[in-house]
Amino acid sequence: MREASLGQNRIAERYIVNGLSVDVEEYFQVGAFENTIDKGEWDGIASRVELNTGAVLDLFARCGVKATFFTLGWVAHRYPALIRRIIAEGHEIASHGWDHTRVFTMTPQQFGEDIDRARNALEDAGGVAIKGYRAPSFSIDQRTPWAHPMLAERGYAYSSSVAPIAHDHYGWRAAPRFAFHPVEGSSLIELPVTTVQLGERRFGAGGGGFFRILPYALSRWALRRVNQTDGQAAIFYFHPWEVDPDQPRVAGAPLKSQVRHYTQLGAMAGKLTRLTQDFSWCRIDEIALPLAAGRL
Ligand SMILES: [Zn+2]
Repeated sequence: MREASLGQNRIAERYIVNGLSVDVEEYFQVGAFENTIDKGEWDGIASRVELNTGAVLDLFARCGVKATFFTLGWVAHRYPALIRRIIAEGHEIASHGWDHTRVFTMTPQQFGEDIDRARNALEDAGGVAIKGYRAPSFSIDQRTPWAHPMLAERGYAYSSSVAPIAHDHYGWRAAPRFAFHPVEGSSLIELPVTTVQLGERRFGAGGGGFFRILPYALSRWALRRVNQTDGQAAIFYFHPWEVDPDQPRVAGAPLKSQVRHYTQLGAMAGKLTRLTQDFSWCRIDEIALPLAAGRL
């Protein structure tokens, strides 16, 4: 009887179900390499996204968890069978935009075209309605006050596009740390990526390099703190390329980007397995839809 031996803290943790997500993109489509590889070259580069996302799906099946796959329209258009497999295995498909263009680099019109094109590709491939959106590199911030209203207008139920921190690549320091309604009079819910607050300081603790590069115990501590001290569900994310130690190396990228991208890839599968054992997880829509419906 595993539950009986967990102790009070562990049992309390299990009452909070956290949101698990995967941002589905190629290893060469990440922000870290955007100045090294031109988008026009993408079709000529060896693809790893089906292989890597397949490995993630296998891991989730072994661990018995369901998640949301925020997927680029670019990927859905080329690999529709992958989209169908994700859905067939009980996961949620949501949008990560068309080609990983960050929201604050677009005009409102370009943003509208990007998200519509992505949604059409995902819905064509999967045959299901898309309800959720995650901005590439959490790029909805104080520069894009039109973005949430445009998602609300288009009938999205939720967004998970804000990093309420100050980071060198992204972040909206003044945003709330937990679920909020970003548009007056709309049920749209924003679920920011998880942070941990220590006095005046706030750290990104919902995945990314924090999870992959630093020791697992630090992530476990941060997520427990969110569940127990804040009493909130965590929103966690990672990428398929993070479980692929054999991916081709991108030449000519800045050293800092290379260090961030390639460190500890081999340890990810083990860390993710522990994460699924230590916490309870669900799809992001399972957290967002009750909140959007006002059932707190
Ligand atoms: Zn991404």
